[in-house]
Amino acid sequence: MNLPPEKPVSPLAAPVASVWGVGEERAKLLARLKIFTVEDLLLHAPLRYEDRRKFLPIRELKLSEPATVRGEIIAAGLKRFRGGSRTMFECVFDDGTARLHGRWWQAQAWMPDWYAVGREFLIYGKLDDEKKPRVFTHPETELVEAGDDEFVHVNRIVPVHPLTEGLTARVLRSLIWRALEKFENEIAEPDIKLDLKLFPARANAVRMIHFPNELTDVEFARQRLALDEFAALQFQIQSRRKKFEALSKALPCGGDNRLMKPFLAQLGFKLTAAQTNVLKEIRADMGGAHPMRRLLQGDVGSGKTAVAACSALMAIESGFNVALMAPTEILAEQHFRNFSKWFEPLGIKIELQTGSRKTFQPTPDAVQRGKLANFNRQPSTLFIGTHALFTAGFDLPMLGLVIIDEQHKFGVTQRETLVRKGNYPHLLVMTATPIPRTLGLTLYGDLDVSVIDELPGGRGTIKTFVRTTEKLPKVFDFIREKISAGQQAYIVYPRVDVADTDKDIKAVTKEFTNVEKALTGFKVGLLHGRIKPAEKEKVMTAFRANEIKALVATSLIEVGVDVPNATVMLIENAEHFGLAQLHQLRGRIGRGAHESFCILVSDAEHKEAQARLKILEETNDGFKIAEADLKLRGPGELLGQQQSGLPNLRFGNLAEDLNLIRQARELVKL
Ligand code: ADP
Ligand code: MG
Repeated sequence: MNLPPEKPVSPLAAPVASVWGVGEERAKLLARLKIFTVEDLLLHAPLRYEDRRKFLPIRELKLSEPATVRGEIIAAGLKRFRGGSRTMFECVFDDGTARLHGRWWQAQAWMPDWYAVGREFLIYGKLDDEKKPRVFTHPETELVEAGDDEFVHVNRIVPVHPLTEGLTARVLRSLIWRALEKFENEIAEPDIKLDLKLFPARANAVRMIHFPNELTDVEFARQRLALDEFAALQFQIQSRRKKFEALSKALPCGGDNRLMKPFLAQLGFKLTAAQTNVLKEIRADMGGAHPMRRLLQGDVGSGKTAVAACSALMAIESGFNVALMAPTEILAEQHFRNFSKWFEPLGIKIELQTGSRKTFQPTPDAVQRGKLANFNRQPSTLFIGTHALFTAGFDLPMLGLVIIDEQHKFGVTQRETLVRKGNYPHLLVMTATPIPRTLGLTLYGDLDVSVIDELPGGRGTIKTFVRTTEKLPKVFDFIREKISAGQQAYIVYPRVDVADTDKDIKAVTKEFTNVEKALTGFKVGLLHGRIKPAEKEKVMTAFRANEIKALVATSLIEVGVDVPNATVMLIENAEHFGLAQLHQLRGRIGRGAHESFCILVSDAEHKEAQARLKILEETNDGFKIAEADLKLRGPGELLGQQQSGLPNLRFGNLAEDLNLIRQARELVKL
């Protein structure tokens, strides 16, 4: 038998124990840092750097500027407080210019021996206050030892790496130094053609990231290593797409306008230019050679549902069935109602399948019928549902197009299984979380992107205010006023039940009665994830009919819900929501002609929390908000469940590295 030649295994894949000084014990400690191989060790990114070429004299230490000093211990001892229940270990360092006290609360047994008089240490920390004596509380220290590798730790810029208990910065630094000495020549250039005038060679970059000659080298090296990561990611994405295109032939779903025309005529509004443009792109895809894989981004309220409807019509005109998937039952029901209104007059069947309601039972028989129906080019069926629509064993017949609404609520893997269900139907995924470009090119890199960058006209503006709980009585007066004028309000809390929560976070089940009191005379509804689906639907129907005036809810209503008469959105404990999520919630109002008001209530004293909420006060631009959210909280938080699909990056930064991501994409064009 002829086996294909094996790809040579890189020496860097060797277990980390092949670095001198790593025994069984240390290998265990390193494993806690997810360092298993020599490569993992070499790519363990430093947290920070210390310039140890010149030490600051202790006398010159400045308040609130962290610094490294070098001093000898001239005194040390243990102090006890409160009858011995609280201890502090203290030692005094002297560098000839002044003295510095190092203090550790809850002294450890090893400290007196370690911090012995006469020993010399490097001490990294920050002065507690201006008063004498000078004090560092819990400083990081390193013993200065006359050893073989002392030069690794002093008289240079040194890295300080993320550590784990039992492994000191000094030991880890020595290990990385040794790994570099032994393996540096094995660090190969990946298969991309890089201009080495603009970037250091990879091996160089790895050395520089740990032991830079100048601090400015660090970013230079990081960019090189990040570029390699992004290139590997792009390679993955592009090969997946290539494989997909080779494998799959597109179903002809371009449509012939015979249903589209009457549909648009009865719609009651004219599509915006942005909607029309997007539909052109979609039509080209659905009539093209490869199955469409398109991401449709449009801010809340930009009218993605109408685009979904037109796309569905193209497939249906071509004799295929369509599936539309929504992340919540409330949204699936809403779509079911809207599409029934729109499509039934055109003779198109609509079916619903959610966890709690099924308008049809899929059987092999139904599959057969579906095929026959299509054979005769009868108008086809639109299936609407939640996950339940795609549960195992159920294959939709003649599926031409799959539409996923509010894609950010589903994971990447879910998206993949969905599409496999049908025999490579066209795929349109829609999201209202504007995806920052960095993520668009990585996480969604295998999708084409369309953007609806315009809101339909005739909408009232939304004004946003951040307020403290002190102002709540006034806020409720305001809500009463709006309700008296015939409008409606949402009132949102972060939790369902007080039992789920710290005492300071409000829960809908408890606040419901307070809201009823505050709005006496008006009917108040309650909606959260633990309410039975039938009851949920009853509440939504009453709210839509303007019988319920105020809806107390969790963030369950964040996606899709469309009630144009609602003009007030009050969100309490607003600091507990992400920015993108608050923006989604705010998108529930401002859908009619009235002016709308979003009131974010928060007592958070944190400067950052306040700054975050301020962003919402300042802008209604979902794109800016998503970028801010990405920078503040990272992609995992921004995308919610999407997390499972996030790449594991050591040097690349998905919030900041747009240019590198673009370069990587160019470099690996397949
Ligand atoms: P989203 O993009 O958030 O899913 P929807 O599709 O729910 O937005 O649309 C929001 C509202 O705007 C709906 O009431 C819809 O009927 C309306 N709408 C959509 N397109 C237009 C348009 N071109 N002109 C006027 N109103 C529109
Ligand atoms: Mg929507």
